[in-house]
Amino acid sequence: MEFEKSILNKRSDEAKPGTAADDRHLMTFHCQHCYTVLADSLDVCGELQSLDSVILLKVTDDVVVGDAVMSKDKGEMTNCISSPLKCSHCHLDVGKILHSSPPSLAPVRSLFLLDKSSISCYILNSSSMVKASGLSFDLQPVSERLAEVKQHFEAHLEKMSILKSRLADMSIIRNKKRRVNTKPDKRLTHNKHAHFLPLECIVSTLDHQNHILVTA
Ligand SMILES: [Zn+2]
Repeated sequence: MEFEKSILNKRSDEAKPGTAADDRHLMTFHCQHCYTVLADSLDVCGELQSLDSVILLKVTDDVVVGDAVMSKDKGEMTNCISSPLKCSHCHLDVGKILHSSPPSLAPVRSLFLLDKSSISCYILNSSSMVKASGLSFDLQPVSERLAEVKQHFEAHLEKMSILKSRLADMSIIRNKKRRVNTKPDKRLTHNKHAHFLPLECIVSTLDHQNHILVTA
């Protein structure tokens, strides 16, 4: 499988360690030998550090599940029955799936374990290919994530409260100004038609009457 060069901007074999199990880092997983697509980050459940593997719910049809065999490995894989996962194009071993295991590996039974050393990741946001071994796939615990979301909403709520308080103050000031502007002018109370005439018109009329009285 080949990538179009205009889309694939760069290739970095020395990726900076970071958390890839995040909505902001959508990626596809590829066979490190032939770049066949094996899975994507939407199905990542976490990372199994003891086996240096990415835990996945699903893989593509290009991952071939081999026959179940008793593990000959020592250590954590002792007495495990597992099937190897192979790339359908180049037949590279890309991981395993456990059918039977000691209790320590029980949570990952029947899940797909892709070896980080055998896969590369194509990060969609940056259009770059990096080795999976340079990334962390540990998922943040739900409680921590909820605490972050709660903190985020509380900050927004505080901003909204301040904004609401300011709007209320502005509304009070505006109403006061409106009341002051609508009070009748005391100078016009003796004129029975004052409430129909503008102030300038009344003043002009009074000046004219005074002028007639003086000249008479
Ligand atoms: Zn391959």
